[in-house]
Amino acid sequence: MIFDTWPSVRFVVEQPSPTGPILACHQESCGRPYPITLKMWMDYFLGNRQLCEGCSRSIDVWQSLKFAFQNQVPVLVLGLGGAANLTFNVELNPGDQVLVDLTAAGLPSDVSVVSRQYSTANGYRPIEVTDLHHPGSRHLPARYGLIALADIEQSAEAPDMLMQVMFVPTEIYSQPGGLFMLACELFIANEPLGQAAVLAHSAVEGAIREAIKEYFARGVASGALSEKLAERFDVKLATQVMMPTIAENFGFRQLPQHILGELEELRKVRNDAAHTSTAPNFSAVALEFAAATVALAWFEILRMIMSGAISYIPPTS
Ligand SMILES: [Zn+2]
Repeated sequence: MIFDTWPSVRFVVEQPSPTGPILACHQESCGRPYPITLKMWMDYFLGNRQLCEGCSRSIDVWQSLKFAFQNQVPVLVLGLGGAANLTFNVELNPGDQVLVDLTAAGLPSDVSVVSRQYSTANGYRPIEVTDLHHPGSRHLPARYGLIALADIEQSAEAPDMLMQVMFVPTEIYSQPGGLFMLACELFIANEPLGQAAVLAHSAVEGAIREAIKEYFARGVASGALSEKLAERFDVKLATQVMMPTIAENFGFRQLPQHILGELEELRKVRNDAAHTSTAPNFSAVALEFAAATVALAWFEILRMIMSGAISYIPPTS
């Protein structure tokens, strides 16, 4: 490639360790990131509020999720799917053209790069020069050229630029969460939104199946409903009837009604996308993705409670 002979860029890794999934406080003029841990999810489902370290107001996981998806924030959305990120400090001057080799800069080798973002206002705009032909892959190359295109509209106060690289360990794609990761990638790229919804729906359906399988593996007597589900799997029946029953048996809270409503909408969008070419409404899909994230966390926690992976004492009411 043309950029192979360009001088290597000078990098400094700002954050040496990849971070886990994060969300950002939705409160006005805050936006403080917080890790979305198992405890955070449990607190959300049980109605316990934690306080934001930035503004001392209540953290609302649902509002944070809505913010992340409605604004298509890569670091939040892709992080929820399982992507990690590295932030590099890049030293460039207007007019420079350099070779970027992320693997040489510390990016693990067995990963797919799913997003790159650059901070601007350095007197130039970064233009990527990539090998255009990547058959069968939507992922970004780890080795590419970068041109600092002089930008007279911006002042050149500091030549340093931050580059945030989101990447996914390849093994994630073969795990249950891989489908949702792919769905999030399509959602962030905005292409095509219907296909993103189809994948997100499949991810939720897969999680329901896993949770139900776990339930029956516990030796619980199977009723007419389970036979019906085994015969012909029905997401609506499973979500609206079967899962609440299982949750109740384990003393766990049911999925909030508005989440169930959004999952039903996702099911409709999925069916529409499978049969028509009409692009679904973005803000509706954003909400459905936020709801799918909640549902996936809920199924996972329920599965962990059933399998004894986490000790859970149902709250007395
Ligand atoms: Zn806050």
